[in-house]
Amino acid sequence: MSGTGAAPAGADLVIRGALLLDGSGEAPVTGDLAVSGDRITGLGDLARTVGTREIEAAGRALAPGFIDVHTHDDRLLLADPDMKAKTSQGVTSVVVGNCGISLAPLRSKALPPPPFDLLADAPEYCFAGIGEYFAALDAAPPATNAVALVGHSVLRHDTMDSLDRPANDREIAQMRDLMAEAMDEGAIGMSSGLFYPPARAAATAEVMGVAEALTAGDGIYTAHIRDESEHVLDAIEEAAAIARHADVQVIISHHKCAGAANHGRSVETLALIDKLRSEQRLGLDLYPYVAGSSVLLAELTRDAARVLITWSRAMPEAAGRDLADIAAEMGVDQIEASARLQPAGAAYFMMDEGDVRRIMSHEATMIGSDGLPTDVHPHPRLWGTFPRVLGHYAREEGVLSLADAVRRMTGLPAAEFGLKDRGLLRPGAFADLVLFDPETVADRATFDEPLRTAAGIDAVFVNGEAVWTDGAATGARPGRAIRRSETNRGR
Ligand SMILES: [Zn+2]
Repeated sequence: MSGTGAAPAGADLVIRGALLLDGSGEAPVTGDLAVSGDRITGLGDLARTVGTREIEAAGRALAPGFIDVHTHDDRLLLADPDMKAKTSQGVTSVVVGNCGISLAPLRSKALPPPPFDLLADAPEYCFAGIGEYFAALDAAPPATNAVALVGHSVLRHDTMDSLDRPANDREIAQMRDLMAEAMDEGAIGMSSGLFYPPARAAATAEVMGVAEALTAGDGIYTAHIRDESEHVLDAIEEAAAIARHADVQVIISHHKCAGAANHGRSVETLALIDKLRSEQRLGLDLYPYVAGSSVLLAELTRDAARVLITWSRAMPEAAGRDLADIAAEMGVDQIEASARLQPAGAAYFMMDEGDVRRIMSHEATMIGSDGLPTDVHPHPRLWGTFPRVLGHYAREEGVLSLADAVRRMTGLPAAEFGLKDRGLLRPGAFADLVLFDPETVADRATFDEPLRTAAGIDAVFVNGEAVWTDGAATGARPGRAIRRSETNRGR
């Protein structure tokens, strides 16, 4: 394992004297790491290993590349394959297809209704099957790795003539067949977005029926639950029941307690999550902000203390402005102003800082950005999530140790999603790496200036190749579309 043998060993790259945060959550140790090809080949004291390239990394931290478990990067991977919003933060793998929406399978020319427009606004970005989507990624690889979920709302759109009613048995069977096909073609599981209008009419039994397609391949089920405010406990129970029915693992997406009336209720939700976790495989993720973001929906504006417009097709100049100011200028209330801005997106200030910290501190919480890369004036989580956890919440506020913060971005998500040979610094693992300055790493993206890159991220490697160095993308695109068959799932 270490290079203490007689003859000097060679490696493509040796990073020396770094604080090694191995992704397990264990306290860091100072040491060296060697890479050859796409793998980590040595770890420890590598004094006798000679690298073709060497990096002196005293004072720097070296961690496994971050895994963004909750993204809407489905189209970004193809449209802007440098993936700078992610690589600039140290992210080396993304999970796409969350919240019930994915670019595949989509067989009709008609696009699904919002929130699908968070992903794409034209049919040329859609794919008839997840196999075609993966083939497009293989043909034009991005800078990061990707695994893909299939959205339940998209299956509804494929199968049903109207989305404002529950599916009948024939339609559920069709959705289940489409989902099973997607699993065969490499999808890692299914997401649902029962909160959103295209899936709101879906009964629990409908999602259970479709989720049966996940059982054979041990797919994962991620849930943007039906209600994140008053009925949040019922909604968590519903997602858990769907997963129990299909005997699969469930992830509660971007867990929150929205609306002032629900602030503090993470005490209740985490108690429920603990109880469920003693009975079934259940996890959760979080982005580190008190504001959410989505399409502009009147019911979300009611729960929010402040609404910031992130894009509007009817009124593009509204992006980056407060809905309250726009409504005042129009001389109407915010509901009417929202209607006039459609189609549009917004950030909603609707969570409590205490809840964010309590959820972040839960042992099972992973970090996921939920960034919206097509927004004109996006929520800063798109460019700031991971450095914000490391800098603001770990270093400055002490909510987590640095090693535990890294674990929630690396070892934990790799284990939860079954990403083989990723998420840990181990000889033989893929060389997905981030080298950063633990004293300066910080998010710089704000709600006013959301496109600012993070501070303190020195170098990022994906499958052994540098994708981000010295504050810029290298242009290398070594990312891989990871099929389910290449993961630890698949019984
Ligand atoms: Zn969501």
